[in-house]
Amino acid sequence: MKIAVYPGSFDPITLGHLNIIKRASRLFDKVIVCVAVNSSKRPRFSMEERTDFVRRVIGKYGNVEAASFDGLLVDFAKSQGANFIVKGLRAVSDFEMEFQIALLNKKLAPEIETVFLTADEKYTYLSSTIAREMAMYNADISKVVPREIARDVLDKLSK
Ligand code: ADP
Repeated sequence: MKIAVYPGSFDPITLGHLNIIKRASRLFDKVIVCVAVNSSKRPRFSMEERTDFVRRVIGKYGNVEAASFDGLLVDFAKSQGANFIVKGLRAVSDFEMEFQIALLNKKLAPEIETVFLTADEKYTYLSSTIAREMAMYNADISKVVPREIARDVLDKLSK
């Protein structure tokens, strides 16, 4: 069985993330979206909120699950029986860091392959940071985050 983990901060999940999830769900038997604690970033939404947002928007994909994890991604992947890590690539600027992480993960767990999906051109500009900034200024964020969570994102962030 082909099981993939799709890790990220998802602070909050955007339409760009969801596009990767939709495409990964067609490539793999099961996709586990894993919300990272990530000590190097200071998330605006708690891990519970971020995981709940993911859970609310993946409903229509029968083979996608949400989870949260704190620790090494490869350990989490192994604990789930996953043999793939999925990442989205937006621009060259994503590449350097992602390449380094993929090589490191390969060293730690040679049996796990990292698979990169190129961002849909509609979403190459989109990041969680942009979604949060739009929400702070009360912009129409239904263009950048799934509509199921737009209200909650605005309620928390708008001034
Ligand atoms: P961000 O960089 O927006 O904070 P995350 O850390 O949550 O995002 O990223 C999780 C994964 O999703 C990474 O592989 C990242 O490259 C990918 N990703 C983020 N935004 C997009 C997008 N708009 N299109 C495709 N992939 C994306």
